[in-house]
Amino acid sequence: VPVSNIRNFCIIAHIDHGKSTLADKLLQMTGTVQKREMKEQFLDNMDLERERGITIKLQAARMRYMLENEPYCLNLIDTPGHVDFSYEVSRSLAACEGALLVVDASQGVEAQTLANVYLALENNLEIIPIAIFLVRFVGDIGMISREWELVENLEMYSLGTDDVQVDIDVAKIIDFYSFHPNKRLVGYNRRIGAYQGNVESTRASLVLNKIDLPGAEPDRVIKEIEEVIGLDCSNAIRCSAKEGIGITEILNAIVERIPPPRDAARSPLRALIFDSYYDPYRGVIVYFRVIDGTVKKGDRIYFMASPAMQDYFADEIGVLSPNQMQVEELYAGEVGYLSASIRSVADARVGDTVTNYDRKAESSLPGYEEATPMVFCGLFPVDADQFPELRDALEKLQLNDAALKFEPETSSAMGFGFRCGFLGLLHMEIERLEREYNLSLITTAPSVVYRVNCVNGDTVECSNPSLLPEPGQRKSIEEPIVKIEMLTPKDYIGSLMELAQDRRGDFKEMKYITENRASIIYELPLAEMVGDFFDQLKSRSKGYASMEYTFVGYRESELIKLDIQINGDPVEPLSTIVHKDKIAFKDCKGTKASYCRRKVGLLASFAKSHVHPTPAVTNR
Ligand code: GDP
Ligand code: MG
Repeated sequence: VPVSNIRNFCIIAHIDHGKSTLADKLLQMTGTVQKREMKEQFLDNMDLERERGITIKLQAARMRYMLENEPYCLNLIDTPGHVDFSYEVSRSLAACEGALLVVDASQGVEAQTLANVYLALENNLEIIPIAIFLVRFVGDIGMISREWELVENLEMYSLGTDDVQVDIDVAKIIDFYSFHPNKRLVGYNRRIGAYQGNVESTRASLVLNKIDLPGAEPDRVIKEIEEVIGLDCSNAIRCSAKEGIGITEILNAIVERIPPPRDAARSPLRALIFDSYYDPYRGVIVYFRVIDGTVKKGDRIYFMASPAMQDYFADEIGVLSPNQMQVEELYAGEVGYLSASIRSVADARVGDTVTNYDRKAESSLPGYEEATPMVFCGLFPVDADQFPELRDALEKLQLNDAALKFEPETSSAMGFGFRCGFLGLLHMEIERLEREYNLSLITTAPSVVYRVNCVNGDTVECSNPSLLPEPGQRKSIEEPIVKIEMLTPKDYIGSLMELAQDRRGDFKEMKYITENRASIIYELPLAEMVGDFFDQLKSRSKGYASMEYTFVGYRESELIKLDIQINGDPVEPLSTIVHKDKIAFKDCKGTKASYCRRKVGLLASFAKSHVHPTPAVTNR
């Protein structure tokens, strides 16, 4: 089909609002997949994901759709639904011209709904030709006109980008600052109210799902979205992904409301990588969207941000329908995959730009970020014989996870193991290791990366508490701080504030986004969040609260090292860095000792299989 008949879109939603179910229905309705070949959910193809209802890996699917005798090619790019993957979500959005915003009509706006909308808007500003469309689409739910003075701000973002298609609509639509949580979130309800007088024509993209549920209240939710996000929802599509209601309307809306990609096939190749995975036979499979130029089978290609600075031959190029299907060439606007005997996903990272080695693009696509691990912990096999298997498992996992780092660690009590670095709240990955590779692991308490300012003027980064410089050498310790936003029904406000306070949270702001729901913002140490914070949030709110977090920077804090001895012998991998106030010396009763109790619980499970426990907690 001509580029004018291509539509690239993604679905943004909070977890459980029905993104996968809707994606499956779109695939079925377009005849892309037959019902019988359909697994539970085609787009989530890992067991773990299906069980936990989260999408870890992004996937893509190409669909054919006929509307008024015209054939269209619709590319759905899936986005991960977990709080740790906002960078990946942002790259998927950057690969699209439009987004469907799915909201559960029996629930309403959740933290991730908001976060993803912000991301969509942010993206607009990064990659103008793409972004514009996104906004229009999201905007379709409610184009908020804005005054001319703010338009200037938007144009500043578009300067310096080649091929800027500054569409004046866009400029009028987005109030970037009022949407952007980091910039000027305060009082956006009222502000948007003020703009609603100027709502423009719509290209609706809001999908209200689960209208079949008896508890569905589409009108209330629409009102909430209008108030909270400031979008006009008069064109919202009501659907039930489960029952198949409203699916045709959605397909038509995709064709009618999402603009086609820009026709830039003659420029040098620039393709945006939005996902990659390692295949043992063909090497890394790269999923990409061609933004400019074309890519042909056999082309010599180059990854612009890869430290390897190596070129490859594209052995295989194809489309995802949703299974891989080889083609000869892909043009600007299309979505596909390639393989080129690439050894590890670290050489073809999400967000990187693929270009042609013999005709390189002048600049890479904006928005690329290195993946750096935020959280570290020690992993030791319960059964020492499993050490080689653990190493194999980690190596395999690393082929697929550019952010995973690990190095060997040994201790006389724990034996041989690894110190590992992960991107975010790590239990997911650890669970995967245990399950997929049949390992039984001892996990030490997670640690973040501390910055230690030493007496001699050096600053060292430390992610392993046992390597912390001696007390005499250190002047101060800084720790990473995150800003969290919790959205919760008002009944749980007290309990959640208590939780955040207990985790050394610094209260920033609370406001009611609707009569019944509040947004609570805290800044707190990442170290306090990596453990069970998310589980606590869920259990204290009976599952109704949601959260998002962003890294804000490093801050000095009164931290000390907690060493743990078993039978009088220090077990170094169990050392942790904790705040002074969290330690109750030698005493593991009472509220202040909660930290110690958790520690000892962990020790006890370790000791069961190794030594007889008489754990003693000492401080130094
Ligand atoms: P995701 O996390 O956004 O991908 O959500 P899923 O597609 O996995 O759906 C979460 C749950 O909601 C599943 O149990 C679905 O069966 C259910 N669900 C999805 N769409 C609908 C719908 O339209 N109506 C009802 N009643 N349930 C739905
Ligand atoms: Mg899903």
